[in-house]
Amino acid sequence: MRVRAYAAAAAGEPLEPTTIERRDVGLNDVLIEIEYAGICHSDLHTVNGDWGPQPYPLVPGHEIVGIVAEVGTAVTRHRMGDRVGVGCMVGSCGECANCRNGDEQYCFSGMVPTYGGTDRDGTITQGGYSTHVVVDAGFVLSVPEGIEPAAAAPLLCAGITTYAPLRRWGAGPGRKVAVVGLGGLGHMAVKIAHAMGAEVTVLSQSLKKREDGLRLGADHYHATSDPGTFERLAGRFDLIVNTVSAPIDLDAHLGLLALDGALVNVGAPAEPLSLNVFSLLTSRRSYAGSMIGGIAETQEMLDFCAEHRIGADIELIPADRINQAYARVLGSDVRYRFVIDAATLG
Ligand code: NAP
Ligand code: ZN
Repeated sequence: MRVRAYAAAAAGEPLEPTTIERRDVGLNDVLIEIEYAGICHSDLHTVNGDWGPQPYPLVPGHEIVGIVAEVGTAVTRHRMGDRVGVGCMVGSCGECANCRNGDEQYCFSGMVPTYGGTDRDGTITQGGYSTHVVVDAGFVLSVPEGIEPAAAAPLLCAGITTYAPLRRWGAGPGRKVAVVGLGGLGHMAVKIAHAMGAEVTVLSQSLKKREDGLRLGADHYHATSDPGTFERLAGRFDLIVNTVSAPIDLDAHLGLLALDGALVNVGAPAEPLSLNVFSLLTSRRSYAGSMIGGIAETQEMLDFCAEHRIGADIELIPADRINQAYARVLGSDVRYRFVIDAATLG
């Protein structure tokens, strides 16, 4: 079936309306009529070629919410009319130890990304800036009632990417958590860490978004442009989640960790980051990374967000404003996620 979409024709090119082919619904597939697609900074990194060469034309989008329009005969998990979501991956081998352990995102053979990857039929996957998508039912999540569908879309990437490290590194009552960067991921990290019961601090470039940060659930808010911040907060945090899309001064941020504290990078700048090992040795600190989350964990996150009435703070845009939204994301001018209304795809 041919469906409408927005694609980049080459690295760094603006996105333009186009049509793409979606495969026939197979035994285990779900056809989703897309309602909403979030704009993640990873979409920008990818279409700009920051992470290396990509197959073009490329339709980005891995924060997808929509309605099931058709299911394959072997699908039992989802039914016509259900509201569902798709995140950053649409396939994995299903057999390796990581897949069997629910860590499909770390599949030994490489998970299949929602766009720009090679699908099981050899075609290139195309993402959610589109009216429809066909996805293996095992990678389709149920969107619970109680979250606005447009506000649920960003949970499929920004939500799970921050939920997973917050859970793994034990954000909860009595734990001090800092979130670096108050963008799409950062604002979800603040809401989720607050809901988990942690004491939450935002570390932003400036104090411009301070009121928002406190409203979102932060207890404290500091500017990283103020060198005094790094003196005043030295040794303070059990966990720091770095969501910044550009390189940061790791040594300065590691200095904010308490004994046994961890700095977890979810931000994915193209440039290598370096650190002085003494920043780790002196307080038995860790520096780690984390990539999205497994399918079962993503469902757990959606249910957690529904229970705590958490959605993203979004700006809903028509498709013809995608390029303008990209420019604003690059300028850190996003409050706090752009979501495309798929009904406007033309
Ligand atoms: P975003 O909405 O653009 O937020 C990034 C925030 O970082 C900005 O709002 C800004 O916050 C801060 N920032 C930007 N440039 C900065 C600079 N030069 N110096 C210091 N701070 C800066 O992006 P996002 O969608 O949240 O994504 C953030 C990063 O996570 C991207 O690199 C993305 O590719 C990556 N990501 C990783 C995963 C994963 O699985 N690990 C998943 C999704 C996304 P302030 O204005 O508050 O300073
Ligand atoms: Zn993303």
